[in-house]
Amino acid sequence: MTIRTQSLEWREREKMADYSQKVTSTFNERMRLNRVRRRKEKLRFWDEFMIIPKWLMGLVGFLYLLALGIAIPVNLAQRHNPYGNDMFPPELRDNPVLASFALAGMVTLVSICMTILIFLTAYINRDAYRRGMNAALWTVVALVLLPETLIGGHLLYFLMREPLPYPCPQCSASVSARFNFCPNCKCNLQPSCPQCKREVAELDKFCPFCGSDLGASRIELTPTPSTL
Ligand SMILES: [Zn+2]
Ligand SMILES: [Zn+2]
Repeated sequence: MTIRTQSLEWREREKMADYSQKVTSTFNERMRLNRVRRRKEKLRFWDEFMIIPKWLMGLVGFLYLLALGIAIPVNLAQRHNPYGNDMFPPELRDNPVLASFALAGMVTLVSICMTILIFLTAYINRDAYRRGMNAALWTVVALVLLPETLIGGHLLYFLMREPLPYPCPQCSASVSARFNFCPNCKCNLQPSCPQCKREVAELDKFCPFCGSDLGASRIELTPTPSTL
């Protein structure tokens, strides 16, 4: 009785291990595919930067000026304090102008770090939306991981993000980079040369690698095994 229960339990456990292995390998395949397709994207820093909302840039700039506008007058007001401002080392304590510059430098440094984090998070929010991912979820992940891992959540996003959708070469409908066929016109989005199996563009007439006639064998075109 107990032996049978044990063997059943054992089999169950084996099944679970099998299943989790399958899930892991599917996950790895998917990640590899994402990386392959993302490599084709030509992202330019400035264009990417501009997807950050303008109002956020304005707000950050405004907060920076506000921080300076508060810190410096407060520091200058300490001038009349007979003991000096004990926030500064003795060399700066009696020199309000120099102290103000030091303070402005500190405020700027902190602001730059904060701005990078804010812009990075805003970028993730917009970029995830653009890629058809869950923008709210990824923003929360980035923010939740912020205190312990700093930009760990952000890095995770950049490792896991899905490729950008692009226009179908035949009908220009926007297709997800995950599709093998266009849902609108059935255009093969991941064709490979039947001769040499290398990936070719959808509308190539001849294979650029081996010169085989793709027009004649268009029906045979199959998704490249290496990118599946
Ligand atoms: Zn199409
Ligand atoms: Zn070929």
